[in-house]
Amino acid sequence: MKKKINARLVFLSILAIFSTMLCITLVYYDLFGKQIMANLEIYSNFIREYDTIDEIMAAGDRNSQDGVRVTLIEKDGSVVYDSATDSETMENHSDRPEILSAYENGEGTDIRISKTLDQSTYYYAVRLEDGMVLRVSEEAENIFSFFFSAIPTLLVIAGLLTIISLIFAQVLTDNLVEPIEKLAEHLDDGENITYYEELEPFIHMIRKQHQDLRHSANMRQEFTANVSHELKTPLTSISGYAELIEAGMGTEEDTRRFAAGIHKSATRLLTLINDIIRLAELDVSKGELDLERINLLVMVNACAEMLQISAQKHNVTISVEGEDCYIMGNRTMIDELIYNLVDNAIRYNYENGKVYVKVGHEGEKVALIVSDTGIGISKEHQERIFERFYRVDKSRSKSTGGTGLGLAIVKHILVSHDAKLELTSEPDKGTTMKIIFEE
Ligand code: ATP
Ligand code: MG
Repeated sequence: MKKKINARLVFLSILAIFSTMLCITLVYYDLFGKQIMANLEIYSNFIREYDTIDEIMAAGDRNSQDGVRVTLIEKDGSVVYDSATDSETMENHSDRPEILSAYENGEGTDIRISKTLDQSTYYYAVRLEDGMVLRVSEEAENIFSFFFSAIPTLLVIAGLLTIISLIFAQVLTDNLVEPIEKLAEHLDDGENITYYEELEPFIHMIRKQHQDLRHSANMRQEFTANVSHELKTPLTSISGYAELIEAGMGTEEDTRRFAAGIHKSATRLLTLINDIIRLAELDVSKGELDLERINLLVMVNACAEMLQISAQKHNVTISVEGEDCYIMGNRTMIDELIYNLVDNAIRYNYENGKVYVKVGHEGEKVALIVSDTGIGISKEHQERIFERFYRVDKSRSKSTGGTGLGLAIVKHILVSHDAKLELTSEPDKGTTMKIIFEE
């Protein structure tokens, strides 16, 4: 890229140099020709002042060494005198343009290429009072030789200019490319790179993409580490119990207890794996959802029923109230959503605690509110509980069988349904999660 820019700049400057020089040569050559003509005119004016033809001839002879040729032509075109050649041998001149013009208009000029091709002859002719024509002429370099003789100088100047433009092109491309190169080196830390404003949106976008990439790479890494860790705990206990049974330790009663432990850990592994699979599914199936019209109240009631046993176990009562509210949603997902919220409200509750679920309209929108009289969540945890595997109190959550994926799934479902969640919670008082569906 850099080389390309460089080459183009150099090419452009060389082109500019040569075209400028060509123009200058043309202009200069034109001036040069006009100057010669002007000189010839002055000279002819000077000669024609002589009174007799003899005097003109004498003047012509005197000046023939200087390269100026004087010719006198009769009215009929025959040559009377020529300072360079014997006039007797010269053909009739009445067809020469400058002579014709002089007959008609009093004066005439012409430029003709000489026999030696690198020269041109400049003619100036003027009609004298007696009708004869006086012509003076001079040979001079023509445009080609003019140009060729200028070539060495041109080449030297062009060479110098090329070198200068090469240096400039180098500096220019360096300036252009430098911030881009720097950016590549300092994608993460390079706040202090100075770049020009045209580059800003581009750099902004690259930085953003880079950050996103890193972020998702970190997330994935973290997720893998978490998954491995979560799998390890139940597997370790399964392996421990199995070992004890294998060694034939303890009574039959103990063996039953070990088996129960294995069962519990295995169940835990299953829910964990289910959650992970669910999350992976949600990650993949972005966009194409099977939406249907759902009566939220009916779903909430079904869910409360299903969780009744768990609630009884925790000595918690669930009450549902509200009106029929319809939303467009994916049945499985909405079911999961309600389940996870009510499940948390039961699990992170106190003995004899309460769970209230409410479904109702809020203007155009539909709201689902799940509140509890439980342990609550302190401010610093409130933002993080939606992260995968995040649990406020690891030991409590683990004793209740939580893996910290429930709310991560909830968040996912909210995003895919364009729903908003408002969380209010106070430690020891309780938690309220309010979900607002656009519709
Ligand atoms: P899982 O739902 O996957 O079985 P979990 O319940 O631990 O496990 P989340 O549902 O994601 O995971 O909840 C994350 C954490 O947020 C919980 O461990 C808990 O500490 C806290 N939390 C969630 N809901 C409540 C609530 N209603 N009251 C108090 N704390 C809560
Ligand atoms: Mg949960």
